[in-house]
Amino acid sequence: MILFKRSTDLRNYLDIQCKHFKKCGFVPTMGALHEGHISLLDKSKKMNEITVSSIFVNPTQFNDPADFEKYPITLEKDIAMLETAGCDILFLPTVAEMYPKGTKAVMHYDLGYLDTILEGQYRPGHFQGVCMIVHRLLEIVKPDNLYIGQKDYQQCMVIKKLVELIGMKELINLNISPTLRENNGLAKSSRNTRLSENERIKAAAIFQTLHSIKEQLQKGELNSLKIQAFNKLTEKDFKVDYVEIADAGDLQIADRWDGKQKLVALAAAHLNHVRLIDNILLN
Ligand code: AMP
Repeated sequence: MILFKRSTDLRNYLDIQCKHFKKCGFVPTMGALHEGHISLLDKSKKMNEITVSSIFVNPTQFNDPADFEKYPITLEKDIAMLETAGCDILFLPTVAEMYPKGTKAVMHYDLGYLDTILEGQYRPGHFQGVCMIVHRLLEIVKPDNLYIGQKDYQQCMVIKKLVELIGMKELINLNISPTLRENNGLAKSSRNTRLSENERIKAAAIFQTLHSIKEQLQKGELNSLKIQAFNKLTEKDFKVDYVEIADAGDLQIADRWDGKQKLVALAAAHLNHVRLIDNILLN
């Protein structure tokens, strides 16, 4: 694995490689890697001659400074995991490298409705920060294939929209991978490292609650299901931001189900100051 810290060095290297018509897959991450990240990398390895991964804890997407401060960093372990998984290139830039003109937003990405609901509502500015960094990374790496996880359902939609907004839709193929979970259902996440063993057991309640929505789903109104789920998590000591059911295609909030519409259930809840998100497709 070759490690690059400077974008120009990485781009020069990729320019030489791409002359040989090699397909390039890209797996952007914020580090503290786990099997979920590696599943994206494995997919890229199968579909591309070159796989690039990046580790960058992006300050502009953290609306809560404490969350940024406490974001887990396990660089040595990450490098070993990427090497074992057969990653070809690791891009490990500094904040100055990614934001040479500073981290203040210079443009607004028009994400419309997506920016105002769920994660957009509870983490103001989060998706603008995601767009800033993904835009910059895509302009440097220029991948043929981009690998992202369904774990961040709304982020997948935001990135799809971003790729259109920056005119890269025809150039980049988006691959969305299923969420890898612990045996008890808890979605694997870098933030899980901030949970104790006991809290990890407790945290599986998020998946179990989403799963019980799936089991109880029937035609008609959906609000009682959402309220029941919200209360169940609150009873189990979560501070719940939301439990929602939405259209799986455009994330419009669904209050009724006609028995056909494709739906996704999404939740965000804090367990002892660690904010966790998860989602499952309902049908
Ligand atoms: P992060 O490092 O949290 O920014 O995640 C980097 C990429 O890995 C994103 O596309 C995530 O959606 C994806 N990812 C995170 N957790 C999982 C998981 N449990 N299963 C599959 N993909 C994941």
